[in-house]
Amino acid sequence: MKGKTMHQLGDTMKHVRLVARMTRATATDVVTAYDNDVLSSQDWADIIQNCRHCDWADRCEEWLDAHETAKRAPRQCRNRKRFTEIKALDSGRAD
Ligand code: SF4
Repeated sequence: MKGKTMHQLGDTMKHVRLVARMTRATATDVVTAYDNDVLSSQDWADIIQNCRHCDWADRCEEWLDAHETAKRAPRQCRNRKRFTEIKALDSGRAD
């Protein structure tokens, strides 16, 4: 091992909650995205799994407490790009 302890995966339910809060804060409507086939069950599972690998999970809760709404997830968010893509694809369908 190279000086850094091995990363442990976070608790699944904790990360489901963090993702739910993050999508709410950033107005990323995953339910509509799912209904519109913008988001698959596998995508959702990948998002949760990705979140479980996040080194920033403790800070994430603080960030969420301080940001009721935000345009985008914080730079540290491993799902930031995906949330932004979902939002863009979903809003593109609303026309
Ligand atoms: S910042 Fe990390 S812990 Fe928070 S939602 Fe994004 S990936 Fe999950």
